[in-house]
Amino acid sequence: MNALRHFFKSFLLLELFRGMMLTGRNLFERKITVQYPDERAPQSPRFRGLHALRRYPNGEERCIACKLCEAVCPALAITIESQQREDGSRRTTRYDIDLFKCIFCGFCEEACPVDSIVETRIFEYHFENRGDQIMTKDKLLAVGDKHEDQIAADRAADAAYR
Ligand code: SF4
Ligand code: SF4
Repeated sequence: MNALRHFFKSFLLLELFRGMMLTGRNLFERKITVQYPDERAPQSPRFRGLHALRRYPNGEERCIACKLCEAVCPALAITIESQQREDGSRRTTRYDIDLFKCIFCGFCEEACPVDSIVETRIFEYHFENRGDQIMTKDKLLAVGDKHEDQIAADRAADAAYR
């Protein structure tokens, strides 16, 4: 019975006509191709792009060198060295992220107890020299300083959503 049904389906080209109907239905639909970079697709506040280190409003680094992000990173992309300050607080002396190793999983920002390491909306960047892929502490803080308003707005939107 199955063989007979298969024979008639093949003989009458039913699969072909079904495919043609689908093509015909979409032929005059509104096209959804985005003309990047003139047009942009919407981005989620949870977008996981280039990393940044944040500061408090008084300029103090948020990071307390607890190394949770380094421990949780599945790609071993984060390298942290730290030192105790004279006032007893602990801060990083080195904070590197190797973007060639990073898989942008977001575990580091999930693990951070002080909302210091975050992933921004930035996805348009490139490297020209060997070693540029290492995001050093200075580079990460510079990204955070430049995009703090957007980062704070995204964190607030994310918190409201949860
Ligand atoms: S996003 Fe994931 S892979 Fe990249 S540094 Fe953070 S924890 Fe590691
Ligand atoms: S970025 Fe956050 S999780 Fe990583 S060492 Fe600093 S405080 Fe700890």
